Amino acid sequence: MVEAGRLRDAKPLHDRKARAVDEREILVAMGRADPLPTWRDRRVVLLGDACHPMTPYMAQGAASALEDAAVLARCLAAVRSDGIDAALARYEATRKPRTSDIQGASSQNTWMRYATDPGWVYGYDAWTEPLAGQGG
Ligand SMILES: Cc1cc2nc3c(=O)[nH]c(=O)nc-3n(C[C@H](O)[C@H](O)[C@H](O)COP(=O)(O)OP(=O)(O)OC[C@H]3O[C@@H](n4cnc5c(N)ncnc54)[C@H](O)[C@@H]3O)c2cc1C
Repeated sequence: MVEAGRLRDAKPLHDRKARAVDEREILVAMGRADPLPTWRDRRVVLLGDACHPMTPYMAQGAASALEDAAVLARCLAAVRSDGIDAALARYEATRKPRTSDIQGASSQNTWMRYATDPGWVYGYDAWTEPLAGQGG
């Protein structure tokens, strides 16, 4: 509510944008979201905020979307049309545990507030991470 008020006061530069922002939109943007049951429906699959929206307190939303894209590309590489369903399932199975962990940790809004080992977040390499079902 405070944020919306500030934006409305920032005239004239952001006048049009400020009018488009209301309290409800800001609350939606910052809202906690739990992992979805599935990211897939037949040959349609989601990535990014569409399947794992998260609070911004770990600064991992866009990073996670990029990781999704890299893993999805790896899963689809050299797959024939009869392998697409399995490739999309592998993508989801590879990515969901990590994004679910980040969603949960980010919702707590305590990241880096205390001594912690951030390696599990920053040490992840989407181009080399083992794909689900393919072992190490
Ligand atoms: C305050 C704040 C700070 C953040 N800081 C960071 C940070 O430091 N680091 C970080 O990694 N992440 C950060 N994030 C998160 C990051 O912005 C998002 O996770 C990221 O933008 C998600 O990308 P996306 O492509 O999945 O979705 P979006 O960026 O939301 O892109 C979806 C696009 O689809 C368009 N669209 C929607 N519906 C339709 C439709 N029907 N037809 C056509 N187009 C449509 C939308 O207009 C939008 O352009 C922050 C978020 C917030 C709110």
